[in-house]
Amino acid sequence: MIRRGTLRFARGLLVASLLIGTITLLGAMNALAQGKLSPKWEELTAADFRTGVQQSKGTCLLPFGILEKHGPHLPLGTDLLNVRYASLQAVAQEYAVVFPEYYFGQIFEAKHEPGTVAYSLELQLKLLQETTDEMARNGCKKILIVNGHGGNEHLLPLFGQAQMDKPHDYVVYVLDGERSKPGGPAKKSTGIDYHAGENETANTMVSHPDLVHLDRAASESGADQKRVNLPEDVYTGIWWYARFPNHYSGDGSVATKELGEWNMKNWIEEIVEAIRAAKADDQSLKIQNEFYEKSKHPLDTRP
Ligand SMILES: [Zn+2]
Repeated sequence: MIRRGTLRFARGLLVASLLIGTITLLGAMNALAQGKLSPKWEELTAADFRTGVQQSKGTCLLPFGILEKHGPHLPLGTDLLNVRYASLQAVAQEYAVVFPEYYFGQIFEAKHEPGTVAYSLELQLKLLQETTDEMARNGCKKILIVNGHGGNEHLLPLFGQAQMDKPHDYVVYVLDGERSKPGGPAKKSTGIDYHAGENETANTMVSHPDLVHLDRAASESGADQKRVNLPEDVYTGIWWYARFPNHYSGDGSVATKELGEWNMKNWIEEIVEAIRAAKADDQSLKIQNEFYEKSKHPLDTRP
């Protein structure tokens, strides 16, 4: 009995020490994995998400794309694919948690083309507000919206400005879309290059070369058709369709990977710079709070 008891005890000890060893090993592996956290919100476990938000100092990215026609040769999700490519390259240099695919923006001007998904303006604003609210509730107190879609150029500053309406315990930063910088490979097209043209085609040749159908790029015209003549400072919503009815602006057929590499490099650098600036910004939230407080009793406000 004693012997059997001793044996059982010894066996128990062995099992216990093996268990402790395994737990220690798992802990070490977990710690090792934490050194290389995925930046993607959807890939993190709940516990790793907490570590990720701490590691990014509460700075999170919301890359913003769209689903719309991109000439005859690029995929519908070009803006989403490119903005996520640039954002994920950027966070590899300066860690930040990246929100999943988001493409619920302003695109009424492409409703006449197949594959466009155009949510109502009310839903766009509500969904974006609830998304940033939820991000902030999860510790993302500095939210950098990285815009990848030209049609959002008015929506996003409006959204940013609208944050002053009610108190928020977080700051929204908007980084405007990629703009080609001078100094890179010489461009071959000379006309306007707004959408699915030389620049955007070149960028997609870097991010998703397998999705670019360069041989189809000249099958439609991306020329400015100048069908409305108004002074520059008069805005009308039909301007885009009037000028580019094929939802194509520029000439994608002359795009090269070299130009795309130049554009992407600059875009990624801009995003890295914006992440670092947001992390270092200890003023915006403080000043927002001062503003919200004063807004409650404007008659007491003194210069
Ligand atoms: Zn685009």
